[in-house]
Amino acid sequence: MIRPILQHPDPLLRRICDRVPEISDEIKALASDMLETMYDAPGRGLAAPQVGELIRLFVIDTTWKEGAATPIVFVNPQIIATAPEQQTNAEACLSISDQSLDIARPSWVDVVWTDLNGTEKHDRFDGFAAACICHENDHLNGKLILDYEVAA
Ligand code: ZN
Repeated sequence: MIRPILQHPDPLLRRICDRVPEISDEIKALASDMLETMYDAPGRGLAAPQVGELIRLFVIDTTWKEGAATPIVFVNPQIIATAPEQQTNAEACLSISDQSLDIARPSWVDVVWTDLNGTEKHDRFDGFAAACICHENDHLNGKLILDYEVAA
């Protein structure tokens, strides 16, 4: 089911989201809806607060626009390490229409999260995926790309 995407300055986009206590059927249905909504938008990432659910969950797929889909659902993600080097990408947000901002992010991030089977995962992401994860993780803390100084 495609869900409406909240638009800035909706105050729900500024809240700190709660941890997901367990992988319930509702969580699985939400993740499925979020992927459908993201592909429809179309976008490469979507966080639960963008559809009005104030929980720590986001989805990304950084490759589908170029070919093969590689969806990943992150539940209770934590970025546990970041590269000392930065990269800059033009970032857009499905909650902010017609704006793209150059934002500096770590060139890689190490992330731990829970998948929809309840399994704890740990992986390193680099390039655009790292930036996308940082962007979506910011949403779980009420932070938007508008809050960054534009990279020089
Ligand atoms: Zn966004």
